Amino acid sequence: MLSILFTVAIVVAVVAMAARRWQARHHGRQRLGATIERAVVVGRFDEIDATLDRYRCPRCGEAVQRTGEFSRSIGTRRFRVARVLCRGCGHEERVHFDVTAAFH
Ligand SMILES: [Zn+2]
Repeated sequence: MLSILFTVAIVVAVVAMAARRWQARHHGRQRLGATIERAVVVGRFDEIDATLDRYRCPRCGEAVQRTGEFSRSIGTRRFRVARVLCRGCGHEERVHFDVTAAFH
């Protein structure tokens, strides 16, 4: 009997941990700029610099440093993707910008 309770407790703990992890990942994807679908729309390229200056790490809230940048285009839409590195915890991520309007 005790071993069944013990097993149930372990299963509950594992499920709760997985749910928390999924929630954190889901929340991260919802952030503006986190994916190409949620790209930050900018009208000029200097708005990218301004946005990254204000950008804070989603994990610890520290400022980030840009480590690289590349372009992508999907159909007629153009994107810039900035790679950033957190100055606090070292978390690395990409921030997506829709720069289509900057070309017109
Ligand atoms: Zn951080």
